[in-house]
Amino acid sequence: MLDLLKSVLYEFLSYFVPQRQSYEITGHCLKCGKCCNYMYSMDTYTEKEFEIMQKIFPKYKRFYIKGRDEYGNLIFACKLVTPEGLCSDYKHRLRMCKNYPAKRINYRGQLHEGCGYKVNFKEFKDYIEK
Ligand code: SF4
Ligand code: SF4
Repeated sequence: MLDLLKSVLYEFLSYFVPQRQSYEITGHCLKCGKCCNYMYSMDTYTEKEFEIMQKIFPKYKRFYIKGRDEYGNLIFACKLVTPEGLCSDYKHRLRMCKNYPAKRINYRGQLHEGCGYKVNFKEFKDYIEK
């Protein structure tokens, strides 16, 4: 009976596994501006969806569609980044900007080439060795 309950519990918990992935972030920002000039969205795949998102969340009006990558994914950039790669609205930058790079994400994190931060991945064995 206990085994069955455990199985049910683990099955339930398995739905949250991706959201529990956490990464150790080391390093610091080199103020290159790459992350403000080239970004992806996890839930916006078309121009129409982006328009809708901007209506629902006006704060996204600072972003624009820069193009698509070789796989057809939209690439976004911020209108408020200066040519030097600095934020011209630093005091009022969005929470996502303040938290970048996020420690808890539900996909494997990747940073821009040359970014001063480093994402240290935890493998499955790191969790079970704990
Ligand atoms: S890409 Fe990395 S180093 Fe460059 S501005 Fe963004 S966080 Fe800073
Ligand atoms: S608000 Fe500032 S920090 Fe955020 S993406 Fe735009 S330029 Fe970068």
